[in-house]
Amino acid sequence: NEQVAKEYIDDVFKKLKQKYAFELEFLQAVEEIFLSLVPVFAQNPEYIHHNILARIVEPDRIISFRVAWQDDNNNVQVNRGYRVQFNNVLGPYKGGIRFHPTVNESIMKFLAFEQILKNALTGQPIGGAKGGSDFNPKGKSDAEIMRFCQAFMTELYHYIGPDRDVPAGDIGVGAREIGYMWGQYKRIRGQFEQGVLTGKKPGYGGSLGRKEATGYGLVYFVSEMLHDANLSFINKTVVVSGSGNVAIYAIEKAQHFGAKVVACSDSNGYIYDPNGLDLKAVKEIKEVKGARISTYLNYHPEATYFEDCSKIWTVPCDIALPCATQNEINGDAARTLVENGVKLVAEGANMPSDLEAINIFLDAGILFGPAKAANAGGVAVSALEMAQNSSRNSWTFNEVDAKLHDIMKAIFTESKEAAEKYGYPNNLVVGSNIAGFTKVANGMIAEGVY
Ligand code: GLU
Repeated sequence: NEQVAKEYIDDVFKKLKQKYAFELEFLQAVEEIFLSLVPVFAQNPEYIHHNILARIVEPDRIISFRVAWQDDNNNVQVNRGYRVQFNNVLGPYKGGIRFHPTVNESIMKFLAFEQILKNALTGQPIGGAKGGSDFNPKGKSDAEIMRFCQAFMTELYHYIGPDRDVPAGDIGVGAREIGYMWGQYKRIRGQFEQGVLTGKKPGYGGSLGRKEATGYGLVYFVSEMLHDANLSFINKTVVVSGSGNVAIYAIEKAQHFGAKVVACSDSNGYIYDPNGLDLKAVKEIKEVKGARISTYLNYHPEATYFEDCSKIWTVPCDIALPCATQNEINGDAARTLVENGVKLVAEGANMPSDLEAINIFLDAGILFGPAKAANAGGVAVSALEMAQNSSRNSWTFNEVDAKLHDIMKAIFTESKEAAEKYGYPNNLVVGSNIAGFTKVANGMIAEGVY
């Protein structure tokens, strides 16, 4: 059976590779998941019979559109917009919107594909999607951001809705952008359909705790991993890449749990503060001023700034939390981390470790928390925001935070148990892939072929 399963999976992957040869990130995400699924297909031949793999890797639909907008000099600019509605077996399509110059169809598809299984893991009724644009928000005025968001939504609104597809933020899209998109959606639709977007600010339908959710959730997940290994955050040295929403709240919670966070970064470089980062300063730099992380030196001249953000992984640490972007840890970075004695790596960003890096961590016996499990807290609280919007209710911060904590614990337990059940004890990569995949696959079988 193992042989039959392997041949089936290899065959589906080979065809996919031929068909989408240039979609490297998408193929990378698919390959990582496929490698985990051999024992599942060996034990559940009905998945082969229903050809689940070939079906699950083809998005339900990809929407691709022009976004034209006017900059502050009255020049007309043109970008590409996307929404990949990948799978809605478990609920309305759900996933963030990314504004970044690297956005293309491959990036959108890999993120949406990951999102299917991540969302399944949360146990919330949400399918998988992703959207975005190659628009670069860096250096744009507030008015330009607003006009871009409005232009983007003027096209996207055709395809979304509270029971259809519910976008949220991702890189380059925070509460401000969500606010502009929500306003435009509401004006065009002429209906107050609050649940169409999540990540809104509290006060007009946003959930308390959504801003913190991905970072806090990551640290709750890591706590479970540590606890399971009889370890804790206390006095551990932590390195967090990035300095966006995910990184900032991961730092906050890790510090709260007694860790010393010594480094964080932006796309220009990283800061190293051996005394432990001053999070108040980081928040002021990033959330208030929107400045570069190098300006941390104005607050703490004793810290050091290094150009080249990829070198952040040379900083020795016990716990590494990549919270910046995809493929930020390659084989070399992983080897350096291992040589420097890292004990645990958990992914706050989506697919920050490439396949070689993951294998290096696993082979070295490092505790490894994969993104689709470890960073699921953000989308989990998005689902809680949808629930609050549907019931015209709003919960307290503590209510949301307690639910988030329970969800992250459950994801850890489920992933660990799935890994054990299929013969890969302590391998959370295999465990989370299997736990997420089986929920979606069972739903697809139940729904019938279409
Ligand atoms: N962009 C986040 C993610 O990668 C959150 C998506 C959402 O809240 O819908 O999971």
